[in-house]
Amino acid sequence: MRSIVTSLPMLTPPEAWLVDDAAFDAHVLGGPDHPAYHPERPERLTAARAAVHGSKVAWQRVPAKPAESNDLVRVHSPRYLESLEAVRGESTYLDADTYVAPRSVEAALLAAGGTTALVDRLLDPTSGPSQGVALLRPPGHHARSEQAMGFCLLNNVAVGAAHAIARGLSRVLVVDWDVHHGNGTQEMFWKSPNVLYMSLHQYPFYPGTGAANETGEGDGKGFTVNVPLSAGAGDDVYRSAFERAILPVAHEFAPELVLISAGFDASARDPLAQMRLSAPAFAWMGRALRRIADESAQGRVGVILEGGYDLVGLEGGLSAAIRGVVLGEADEISTSKEAPEEVKRAAKVAGRTWKIGG
Ligand SMILES: [Zn+2]
Repeated sequence: MRSIVTSLPMLTPPEAWLVDDAAFDAHVLGGPDHPAYHPERPERLTAARAAVHGSKVAWQRVPAKPAESNDLVRVHSPRYLESLEAVRGESTYLDADTYVAPRSVEAALLAAGGTTALVDRLLDPTSGPSQGVALLRPPGHHARSEQAMGFCLLNNVAVGAAHAIARGLSRVLVVDWDVHHGNGTQEMFWKSPNVLYMSLHQYPFYPGTGAANETGEGDGKGFTVNVPLSAGAGDDVYRSAFERAILPVAHEFAPELVLISAGFDASARDPLAQMRLSAPAFAWMGRALRRIADESAQGRVGVILEGGYDLVGLEGGLSAAIRGVVLGEADEISTSKEAPEEVKRAAKVAGRTWKIGG
């Protein structure tokens, strides 16, 4: 007689890579000995870790090593890197929002290096899982070639994408669903057809960039796709933007690697922005991008943490994103019959380069 236990399907959880490091927690306004409040705070990673460890995934740790100068100069100027080294060990501000504490430069180098380490695991065909999550602080997508900005010191996702290109890939997709436009990432790949940068963001809003007509230049013309959205956009608007613009363009681009600039500040709970995404929307978007990766990128998706300033919104959003990206699971989210005008406009602009319905 067959036992009921052996006739059950295997319930081994899927595996995924995890980048995390205690050094990220030392990046705190005022330093660990005299911490002061700033929205970009270590508690964010506590919430992110709860999402990671509460998920049905067998995590394989990837040690973060400090990024090397070779990795950084692909997107940052040597002069800027020297200026960061010059503030190592100090407490200061690099712009009105962006603090440096005594161990912040060390954390930033580990965050950028953690991204390249994750990309290496994803690209190594013998190394195991095809998806990974990088819990990083400080975040990266506002960091410009020569300037720290918007809580960001080094542009982690850009360093990772450039590393993948240096390893021989010719098509890397970066989808940035952080509520703010990733101006730094856009600038770094503005003229490149190798990295397709697509962003959905509240607009007009910080940092001011990300209009639909910002599409890249030269060989990179059309390889920047911006979907600026009015304050108050919810699941139906984001879904419409995905269905009308993000997914058709991504499908046609056929990326070999998908990186998500995964901020969770478009959550309805977030105190810094006015969007209204539910947690399940992050699972829906994550699953959609996983399907793109399954088509052309051997399932390779890296989730790179950006913003998200409400701890419950961050934990719930990341937990859902992991479900979508790693498990390929999501529930239905709300939809609208007619796409909003701003989504139609963004799709129309993208349609000048890509064969999408518009
Ligand atoms: Zn943000």
